[in-house]
Parts: sequence; structure tokens; C-alpha cells
Amino acid sequence: MSKIIIAIDGPAGSGKSTIAKMVAERLNYTYLDTGAMYRAITYLALQSGIVDNEDAVNKLVEGLDVTLKYENGLTHVFVDNVDLTEHIRTPEVNSKVSEIAAMPFVRKELVRMQQNMGKVGNIVAEGRDTTTVVFPNADLKIYLDASVEVRAARRYKEYQEKGVEIDIEEVKENIRKRDRIDSGRKTSPLRKAENAIEVDSSNLTVEEEFEILFDNIKKKINLIKSQNNN
Ligand code: C5P
Repeated sequence: MSKIIIAIDGPAGSGKSTIAKMVAERLNYTYLDTGAMYRAITYLALQSGIVDNEDAVNKLVEGLDVTLKYENGLTHVFVDNVDLTEHIRTPEVNSKVSEIAAMPFVRKELVRMQQNMGKVGNIVAEGRDTTTVVFPNADLKIYLDASVEVRAARRYKEYQEKGVEIDIEEVKENIRKRDRIDSGRKTSPLRKAENAIEVDSSNLTVEEEFEILFDNIKKKINLIKSQNNN
């Protein structure tokens, strides 16, 4: 049977990662966290003090090998075989990642690597252009959304659990800023693909959201299987 690609898109804090992991685990598909790749490049650019220098970032990205390995609920990201996982989910990276992700050459390189990863097997790909640019022919496209307040509260809780001290207003402002940059950028702006299933989770628990989506996913997979059998 040909492999199946499920792509999940949506703004920061919309619950994409949580849902994508749940779907991948339930189906035993590979989970592709594309945001982790943009985060790794951002971390390296911050380390070298070049985040505001697009030419230097382009040079940094050229020829780099970024790979992902999902283990025990966490995506590990490796750049040229060095594990950068523990550095990529910090407030510093959060505040700069959208600027790095708006750089066309960075996107071109990472999209190429993501498309190669998609050739390997059944996958659940998650990220802000997975339904529109990386996998425009995905078998199933999902767009998740939630209000800014709800999304900020989720991120704030994640920080608290990790012991990171941050003000909730700062988290909210950071989400607004990322929304602005992600939706307004010239290359691959965040937008809902025409044929995507849309779910707003502002008033749903994760379990409720998952059940709604998984129902749709099962139907689609069964349809593909029956088409393949005919
Ligand atoms: O999903 P995550 O919060 O880890 O993504 C971090 C940032 O990376 C996003 O805010 C966005 O700017 C960028 N990104 C992107 N395209 C993707 C995935 C992430 O531009 N496919």
C-alpha cells in the first residue's frame, strides 16, 4: 500500500504538537515536527550572534544536515549529528524563530529535507506550511486554531512545568508577534489550505479535540485502503 501523509497546520499554541503526537502514536506513524528544525537553526544563529544577518544565516544553513528522532514524547533534533534538543524550546529561541523562519533560503532548505523525510513511510507532519507547501498533496489536511488567550495560557503552563519564569503577558505578546510574522511573511505564510478540516479548540479538551479529528482520520484511511483494494 502507498504511504499516507497526514499534515497538521495552525498558529503557535494551537495544540498541533499534542494532537500530532497523539495521532502518530495511535496509528504508529512517524511524527515529523517541522518547527523543531526551524528552532535548531535559530539556536545556532543565536549562538553565532547572526540572527539579524540573513546572508550569514543563509551561509550557516547551506549544506547543514538536520534530522529528527521522536522518542518518549519528545522530538530530538540533530544538526550534523549533534543533538540540540535541550536548547531549542527556550524563550530566547521562541522570540526569534519566526524571523529565521521567514527567510526564504532557510525555508527552501528545510522544506527539501522535510519532503525527503516524507518519502520514507506513513507520517504525521506538523507545522505552519505542511498543508500548503511541504505536503500540498497530503492525504489529509488539518488546521487547528484557538483564541490568543487560550494559546498563551497553554504555553504559559508549559513554561511553568519546565520551571521557566516568565510573565503571562509576555507569552501573549510573543504569540501575537509570531502570529503577525507567520501570517504576514512573503514566503509560505500561515494560511488554511482549502481542503483542510478545521477545528477550533478554544472550548475543547485535548481528548475532545482528538476524538473529533481521529474520527475523520479513520474514515479517510479506510477510504484510501478500500480505493487501494479496488
Ligand atoms: O511549532 P513550533 O512552535 O515549534 O514552531 C516554531 C516556529 O517555527 C513557528 O512560530 C514558525 O515561525 C516556524 N515554523 C514555520 N514553518 C513550519 C514550522 C515552524 O515557519 N513548518
